[in-house]
Amino acid sequence: MSDELIIYLDGEYVKESEAKVSVFDHGLLYGDGVFEGIRFYNGRIFKCKEHIDRIFAAAKAIMLEIPMSKEEMKEVLIETCRRNNLKDGYIRLVVTRGRGDLGLSPTKCPKPTVFCIASTITLYPKEMYEKGMPIITAAQRRNKATIVDPQVKSLNYLNNILAKIEANRAGASEALMLNHDGIVAECTGDNIFIVKDGVIYTPPIHVGILDGITRRTIMDLAKEMGIEIYEKEFTLYNVYNADECFLTGTAAEAIAVTQVDGRTIGSGVAGPITKKLLKAFQEYARNNGEPIYE
Ligand code: PMP
Repeated sequence: MSDELIIYLDGEYVKESEAKVSVFDHGLLYGDGVFEGIRFYNGRIFKCKEHIDRIFAAAKAIMLEIPMSKEEMKEVLIETCRRNNLKDGYIRLVVTRGRGDLGLSPTKCPKPTVFCIASTITLYPKEMYEKGMPIITAAQRRNKATIVDPQVKSLNYLNNILAKIEANRAGASEALMLNHDGIVAECTGDNIFIVKDGVIYTPPIHVGILDGITRRTIMDLAKEMGIEIYEKEFTLYNVYNADECFLTGTAAEAIAVTQVDGRTIGSGVAGPITKKLLKAFQEYARNNGEPIYE
Protein backbone atom coordinates (compact mmCIF):
# COMPACT_ATOMS: atom_id res chain seq x y z
CA MET A 1 0.00 0.00 0.00
CA SER A 2 1.59 3.25 -1.11
CA ASP A 3 -0.75 5.56 0.80
CA GLU A 4 0.23 4.12 4.16
CA LEU A 5 1.13 6.55 6.89
CA ILE A 6 4.56 6.48 8.43
CA ILE A 7 4.34 6.00 12.18
CA TYR A 8 6.92 6.66 14.87
CA LEU A 9 7.13 3.61 17.14
CA ASP A 10 9.76 3.12 19.83
CA GLY A 11 12.64 4.85 18.09
CA GLU A 12 11.79 3.87 14.53
CA TYR A 13 9.68 5.19 11.67
CA VAL A 14 7.68 2.33 10.21
CA LYS A 15 4.79 1.82 7.83
CA GLU A 16 1.33 1.80 9.35
CA SER A 17 0.95 -1.92 8.53
CA GLU A 18 4.15 -2.62 10.44
CA ALA A 19 3.38 -0.41 13.45
CA LYS A 20 2.37 -3.10 15.91
CA VAL A 21 2.04 -3.07 19.67
CA SER A 22 2.02 -6.20 21.84
CA VAL A 23 -1.24 -7.64 23.16
CA PHE A 24 0.64 -7.66 26.50
CA ASP A 25 1.04 -3.87 26.40
CA HIS A 26 -0.54 -2.42 29.54
CA GLY A 27 -1.86 0.49 27.51
CA LEU A 28 -4.16 -2.05 25.90
CA LEU A 29 -4.69 -4.40 28.86
CA TYR A 30 -5.34 -1.72 31.47
CA GLY A 31 -5.56 1.67 29.77
CA ASP A 32 -2.29 2.38 31.58
CA GLY A 33 -0.75 5.29 29.72
CA VAL A 34 -1.17 8.88 28.60
CA PHE A 35 -1.75 10.65 25.31
CA GLU A 36 -2.05 13.95 23.50
CA GLY A 37 -4.03 15.18 20.51
CA ILE A 38 -2.22 18.01 18.74
CA ARG A 39 -3.09 20.09 15.66
CA PHE A 40 -0.67 21.44 13.11
CA TYR A 41 -1.68 24.26 10.86
CA ASN A 42 0.09 25.62 7.84
CA GLY A 43 3.29 23.68 8.59
CA ARG A 44 3.44 24.63 12.29
CA ILE A 45 2.68 22.52 15.34
CA PHE A 46 0.20 24.40 17.49
CA LYS A 47 1.21 24.87 21.17
CA CYS A 48 3.88 22.18 20.78
CA LYS A 49 5.59 22.99 24.09
CA GLU A 50 2.30 23.09 26.00
CA HIS A 51 1.26 19.65 24.72
CA ILE A 52 4.66 18.15 25.54
CA ASP A 53 4.60 19.73 29.00
CA ARG A 54 1.09 18.34 29.58
CA ILE A 55 1.99 14.76 28.62
CA PHE A 56 5.10 14.87 30.83
CA ALA A 57 2.98 16.18 33.72
CA ALA A 58 0.36 13.45 33.18
CA ALA A 59 3.11 10.82 33.01
CA LYS A 60 4.62 12.13 36.24
CA ALA A 61 1.23 11.91 37.95
CA ILE A 62 0.94 8.21 37.06
CA MET A 63 4.66 7.51 37.75
CA LEU A 64 5.44 6.72 34.16
CA GLU A 65 8.90 7.71 33.05
CA ILE A 66 8.86 8.82 29.42
CA PRO A 67 12.02 7.36 27.83
CA MET A 68 13.06 10.54 26.04
CA SER A 69 13.59 14.22 26.76
CA LYS A 70 11.08 16.94 25.91
CA GLU A 71 13.42 18.12 23.16
CA GLU A 72 13.56 14.61 21.67
CA MET A 73 9.79 14.36 21.83
CA LYS A 74 9.48 17.62 19.91
CA GLU A 75 11.75 16.17 17.22
CA VAL A 76 9.53 13.07 17.03
CA LEU A 77 6.44 15.25 16.46
CA ILE A 78 8.19 17.29 13.76
CA GLU A 79 9.78 14.30 12.03
CA THR A 80 6.51 12.33 11.97
CA CYS A 81 4.79 15.23 10.16
CA ARG A 82 7.73 15.54 7.78
CA ARG A 83 7.84 11.85 6.90
CA ASN A 84 4.17 12.05 5.94
CA ASN A 85 4.63 15.28 4.07
CA LEU A 86 1.76 16.90 5.94
CA LYS A 87 1.18 20.61 6.53
CA ASP A 88 -2.25 20.54 8.15
CA GLY A 89 -3.57 17.79 10.34
CA TYR A 90 -3.66 16.10 13.68
CA ILE A 91 -1.02 14.28 15.73
CA ARG A 92 -1.79 11.50 18.19
CA LEU A 93 1.06 10.99 20.65
CA VAL A 94 0.81 8.03 23.01
CA VAL A 95 3.00 6.73 25.82
CA THR A 96 1.93 3.47 27.44
CA ARG A 97 3.34 1.58 30.42
CA GLY A 98 4.68 -0.89 27.88
CA ARG A 99 4.72 -4.66 27.59
CA GLY A 100 4.24 -6.54 30.85
CA ASP A 101 2.64 -9.71 32.09
CA LEU A 102 -1.07 -10.28 32.69
CA GLY A 103 -0.92 -8.81 36.20
CA LEU A 104 -1.66 -5.17 36.98
CA SER A 105 1.76 -4.32 38.26
CA PRO A 106 3.67 -1.72 36.27
CA THR A 107 6.90 -3.07 37.80
CA LYS A 108 6.62 -5.90 35.25
CA CYS A 109 6.74 -3.39 32.40
CA PRO A 110 10.40 -2.51 31.88
CA LYS A 111 10.02 -0.19 28.89
CA PRO A 112 7.23 2.26 28.03
CA THR A 113 5.88 2.14 24.48
CA VAL A 114 5.93 5.46 22.62
CA PHE A 115 4.20 6.04 19.33
CA CYS A 116 3.18 9.01 17.26
CA ILE A 117 0.71 9.21 14.37
CA ALA A 118 0.38 12.27 12.12
CA SER A 119 -2.66 12.25 9.92
CA THR A 120 -5.45 14.37 8.53
CA ILE A 121 -8.43 15.37 10.65
CA THR A 122 -12.19 15.17 10.25
CA LEU A 123 -13.75 18.42 11.36
CA TYR A 124 -17.28 19.39 12.32
CA PRO A 125 -19.18 20.64 9.25
CA LYS A 126 -18.62 24.33 8.56
CA GLU A 127 -22.29 25.28 8.93
CA MET A 128 -22.25 23.95 12.49
CA TYR A 129 -20.00 26.88 13.45
CA GLU A 130 -22.75 29.29 12.30
CA LYS A 131 -25.80 27.38 13.45
CA GLY A 132 -24.24 25.95 16.57
CA MET A 133 -24.80 22.46 17.87
CA PRO A 134 -27.30 20.88 20.18
CA ILE A 135 -25.88 18.99 23.16
CA ILE A 136 -27.37 17.04 26.04
CA THR A 137 -26.33 16.58 29.65
CA ALA A 138 -25.16 13.04 30.34
CA ALA A 139 -26.40 11.08 33.34
CA GLN A 140 -22.79 9.82 33.56
CA ARG A 141 -20.84 12.10 35.94
CA ARG A 142 -17.26 13.18 35.22
CA ASN A 143 -14.60 11.25 37.12
CA LYS A 144 -13.82 12.73 40.51
CA ALA A 145 -10.41 14.34 40.80
CA THR A 146 -9.81 12.33 43.98
CA ILE A 147 -10.17 9.08 42.00
CA VAL A 148 -8.65 9.52 38.54
CA ASP A 149 -7.97 13.21 38.08
CA PRO A 150 -9.38 14.42 34.72
CA GLN A 151 -6.23 16.55 34.44
CA VAL A 152 -4.45 13.32 33.51
CA LYS A 153 -5.13 12.74 29.83
CA SER A 154 -4.97 9.01 30.33
CA LEU A 155 -5.66 6.12 27.97
CA ASN A 156 -8.73 5.27 30.00
CA TYR A 157 -11.52 7.30 28.42
CA LEU A 158 -14.41 5.05 29.43
CA ASN A 159 -15.93 7.78 31.58
CA ASN A 160 -16.08 10.06 28.54
CA ILE A 161 -17.13 7.26 26.17
CA LEU A 162 -20.13 6.38 28.36
CA ALA A 163 -21.26 10.00 28.17
CA LYS A 164 -20.60 10.07 24.41
CA ILE A 165 -22.88 7.03 24.00
CA GLU A 166 -25.64 9.02 25.71
CA ALA A 167 -25.02 11.90 23.27
CA ASN A 168 -25.09 9.57 20.28
CA ARG A 169 -28.34 7.99 21.43
CA ALA A 170 -29.91 11.43 21.79
CA GLY A 171 -28.73 12.45 18.31
CA ALA A 172 -26.24 14.99 19.71
CA SER A 173 -22.52 15.32 18.90
CA GLU A 174 -21.39 16.13 22.41
CA ALA A 175 -22.51 15.52 25.98
CA LEU A 176 -22.09 17.90 28.86
CA MET A 177 -20.77 16.25 32.01
CA LEU A 178 -21.38 17.42 35.57
CA ASN A 179 -19.11 16.62 38.48
CA HIS A 180 -20.21 14.64 41.51
CA ASP A 181 -21.83 17.72 43.08
CA GLY A 182 -23.81 18.59 39.96
CA ILE A 183 -21.45 21.43 39.00
CA VAL A 184 -20.83 21.83 35.26
CA ALA A 185 -17.45 20.27 34.43
CA GLU A 186 -16.76 19.76 30.72
CA CYS A 187 -17.85 17.78 27.69
CA THR A 188 -16.53 14.37 26.63
CA GLY A 189 -13.71 15.87 24.57
CA ASP A 190 -14.13 19.62 24.95
CA ASN A 191 -14.14 22.35 27.60
CA ILE A 192 -17.19 24.56 28.07
CA PHE A 193 -17.65 28.33 28.24
CA ILE A 194 -20.77 30.44 28.78
CA VAL A 195 -21.33 34.16 28.18
CA LYS A 196 -23.70 36.26 30.29
CA ASP A 197 -24.07 40.05 29.99
CA GLY A 198 -20.82 40.30 28.04
CA VAL A 199 -18.77 38.35 30.62
CA ILE A 200 -17.32 34.89 29.91
CA TYR A 201 -17.26 32.07 32.48
CA THR A 202 -15.58 28.67 32.34
CA PRO A 203 -15.35 26.02 35.08
CA PRO A 204 -12.15 26.07 37.17
CA ILE A 205 -9.76 23.08 37.05
CA HIS A 206 -10.67 21.97 40.59
CA VAL A 207 -14.19 20.93 39.58
CA GLY A 208 -12.53 18.06 37.73
CA ILE A 209 -11.68 18.85 34.10
CA LEU A 210 -8.85 18.56 31.62
CA ASP A 211 -6.85 21.78 31.55
CA GLY A 212 -7.47 22.21 27.83
CA ILE A 213 -4.84 23.92 25.75
CA THR A 214 -7.51 25.48 23.54
CA ARG A 215 -9.27 26.62 26.74
CA ARG A 216 -6.09 28.43 27.87
CA THR A 217 -5.59 29.99 24.45
CA ILE A 218 -9.19 31.24 24.33
CA MET A 219 -8.81 32.71 27.83
CA ASP A 220 -5.64 34.55 26.76
CA LEU A 221 -7.27 35.84 23.57
CA ALA A 222 -10.36 37.04 25.45
CA LYS A 223 -8.16 38.94 27.92
CA GLU A 224 -6.20 40.50 25.05
CA MET A 225 -9.48 41.58 23.46
CA GLY A 226 -10.51 43.23 26.73
CA ILE A 227 -13.40 40.81 27.37
CA GLU A 228 -13.93 39.96 31.04
CA ILE A 229 -13.40 36.25 31.67
CA TYR A 230 -13.53 34.23 34.88
CA GLU A 231 -12.99 30.65 36.00
CA LYS A 232 -16.06 30.12 38.12
CA GLU A 233 -18.29 27.26 39.21
CA PHE A 234 -21.75 27.22 37.69
CA THR A 235 -24.72 24.92 37.27
CA LEU A 236 -27.01 23.85 34.43
CA TYR A 237 -29.32 26.76 35.31
CA ASN A 238 -26.55 29.14 34.23
CA VAL A 239 -25.97 27.23 31.02
CA TYR A 240 -29.68 27.20 30.09
CA ASN A 241 -29.91 30.95 30.75
CA ALA A 242 -26.63 31.99 29.15
CA ASP A 243 -26.56 34.46 26.26
CA GLU A 244 -24.00 32.27 24.50
CA CYS A 245 -22.35 28.93 25.08
CA PHE A 246 -19.39 27.42 23.25
CA LEU A 247 -17.02 24.46 23.49
CA THR A 248 -13.27 24.44 22.96
CA GLY A 249 -10.93 21.63 22.00
CA THR A 250 -8.05 20.80 19.71
CA ALA A 251 -10.36 19.40 17.03
CA ALA A 252 -13.37 21.72 17.46
CA GLU A 253 -11.36 24.94 18.09
CA ALA A 254 -14.33 26.99 19.42
CA ILE A 255 -17.83 25.87 18.45
CA ALA A 256 -21.15 27.38 19.46
CA VAL A 257 -23.71 25.38 21.41
CA THR A 258 -27.22 26.61 20.66
CA GLN A 259 -29.33 24.03 22.43
CA VAL A 260 -28.79 22.22 25.73
CA ASP A 261 -31.26 19.55 26.87
CA GLY A 262 -33.91 21.05 24.58
CA ARG A 263 -33.43 24.65 25.86
CA THR A 264 -32.43 27.18 23.21
CA ILE A 265 -29.33 29.11 24.24
CA GLY A 266 -29.42 32.86 23.59
CA SER A 267 -30.55 33.74 20.08
CA GLY A 268 -30.32 30.13 18.88
CA VAL A 269 -27.37 30.72 16.57
CA ALA A 270 -23.64 31.32 17.19
CA GLY A 271 -23.36 34.51 19.27
CA PRO A 272 -21.11 37.54 18.61
CA ILE A 273 -18.52 36.79 21.32
CA THR A 274 -18.22 33.14 20.24
CA LYS A 275 -17.72 34.21 16.62
CA LYS A 276 -15.18 36.88 17.54
CA LEU A 277 -13.16 34.41 19.62
CA LEU A 278 -13.26 31.69 16.96
CA LYS A 279 -11.98 34.16 14.38
CA ALA A 280 -9.19 35.32 16.69
CA PHE A 281 -8.31 31.73 17.55
CA GLN A 282 -8.11 30.65 13.92
CA GLU A 283 -5.95 33.59 13.03
CA TYR A 284 -3.64 32.90 15.97
CA ALA A 285 -3.46 29.13 15.32
CA ARG A 286 -2.60 29.56 11.67
CA ASN A 287 0.20 31.99 12.39
CA ASN A 288 1.88 30.58 15.47
CA GLY A 289 3.52 27.30 16.33
CA GLU A 290 6.64 25.19 16.00
CA PRO A 291 7.78 25.17 12.36
CA ILE A 292 7.93 21.69 10.79
CA TYR A 293 9.75 22.44 7.57
CA GLU A 294 12.38 25.06 8.47
N1 PMP B 1 -11.68 17.82 27.86
C1 PMP B 1 -11.42 16.56 27.50
C2 PMP B 1 -11.98 15.46 28.33
C3 PMP B 1 -10.63 16.28 26.38
O1 PMP B 1 -10.35 15.02 26.02
C4 PMP B 1 -10.12 17.37 25.61
C5 PMP B 1 -9.24 17.11 24.43
N2 PMP B 1 -9.90 16.44 23.39
C6 PMP B 1 -10.44 18.68 26.00
C7 PMP B 1 -11.21 18.86 27.15
C8 PMP B 1 -9.93 19.86 25.26
O2 PMP B 1 -8.54 19.97 25.47
P1 PMP B 1 -7.55 20.59 24.37
O3 PMP B 1 -8.02 21.98 24.12
O4 PMP B 1 -6.20 20.53 25.01
O5 PMP B 1 -7.68 19.75 23.16
